[in-house]
Amino acid sequence: MLKKKVSLIKNPARKYQLVKGMNDILPDDQRYWFFIYDVLREIAQEFGYQRIDCPVVENTNLFTRSVGEETDIVSKEMYSFIDRGGEDIALRPEGTAGVVRAYNEHGMVNLPQPVKLYYVGPMYRYDKPQAGRFRQFYQFGFEAIGELEPVLDAQQILIAYKILQRLGINALVQINSIGCSECRPAYQNLIVDFLKNNKNQLCDDCKKRFQKNPLRILDCKEKKCQELLVNLPQTVDNLCENCRSHFVRVLEYLDELEIPYNLNSRIVRGLDYYTRTTFELWENEEEKGRQNALGGGGRYDNLVEILGGRPTPAVGFAGGIERIISIMKDKDVSVPKNPEPDVFVAQLGNEARKKILKLMEQLKKAGFTIAESLAKNGIKPQLELANKLGARFSLILGQKEIIDGTILIRDMKGGIQEIINYEKIIQELEKRLGKSQK
Ligand code: AMP
Repeated sequence: MLKKKVSLIKNPARKYQLVKGMNDILPDDQRYWFFIYDVLREIAQEFGYQRIDCPVVENTNLFTRSVGEETDIVSKEMYSFIDRGGEDIALRPEGTAGVVRAYNEHGMVNLPQPVKLYYVGPMYRYDKPQAGRFRQFYQFGFEAIGELEPVLDAQQILIAYKILQRLGINALVQINSIGCSECRPAYQNLIVDFLKNNKNQLCDDCKKRFQKNPLRILDCKEKKCQELLVNLPQTVDNLCENCRSHFVRVLEYLDELEIPYNLNSRIVRGLDYYTRTTFELWENEEEKGRQNALGGGGRYDNLVEILGGRPTPAVGFAGGIERIISIMKDKDVSVPKNPEPDVFVAQLGNEARKKILKLMEQLKKAGFTIAESLAKNGIKPQLELANKLGARFSLILGQKEIIDGTILIRDMKGGIQEIINYEKIIQELEKRLGKSQK
């Protein structure tokens, strides 16, 4: 106790630290984020998806109703609280519920269907922080609302697969079908029947699931629960005719697209709203389950109606950006660097400092990326910074150059320095950079 106090006195900044499970995204890492946002925008355009941004805060009942009251995400992990006006609100734990609320609230049912939307933003889950699992994390998601056609399921998988491929990751698709309200109850009964003699060996969570939602036992990470399930008949062998033919067609489309997939009866997803197709994208075979998945999704044919709309089928998926970036780093995926300046503008003395303010605006207008260090005195520290930032050229203005109507241009690669006419700076830079900036 005493030790802690002493170190706080020595280093008061340690009193103000990140909240557990939250991360800063520092400037050096931003290039990954820009790159991913660019890829998302490209793919959205290719497939005709439009961006939607819903608030981080929604009414708590939106999530209890859609994701499900008994799910881990809602019962254990949701940041929900009563606000100052007495409203029961929550930080969104996932993106689909908000998008469907917006679909209903803005009458998107009247638009040509399917309505194709994508989002990116932070999600919040009060989970135990560990590698790849945070309390604030970013997801992107794609949702196609308004069509039942199985080709849309395959297209969602294609989109997820293609995004990861463009980010340098060859993902493996894990796919399953959990049926619909017609065939799922029979399968749930089958699970109960299968486990009834061993139910005492299940983990505490699965004992509850056994009562309330036996399908979710399949998703459990506990080894002992997994072992009990080894010979359980597969979901896909217990589907009704409509669900079976839907699933077969999804797989045929994936074959046609040559997307590799594994049939995996453990992919039941942790959320209540899923129907029929469920899938996840794993980095490779060894990945085990939800915690290591890069993304996942499925069909949610009842959700629009559950949230007060007309019966409207839909399918979607979400990917986790932090986990994707961590794999990109492991794989050394090359990502465009933070842009380096074309020109560093250095000054010597107040007169020069004043004059380059206008020069910098002219350079920016001409399309050059520039850098400066207006507050520094002396040429050495300024050129050191120019080097550090990777500037291609430096312009140096001192008292003598002001009087002569000139400026020095320094090639930062070779260190060669020349005097040029102040009025010709832009032409000279265009010539030397080998491009017209406009
Ligand atoms: P889910 O809908 O829970 O399967 O989440 C979709 C994706 O979001 C997962 O595959 C992960 O990549 C990512 N994700 C989910 N929860 C977290 C978390 N707590 N921290 C970081 N990433 C997460």
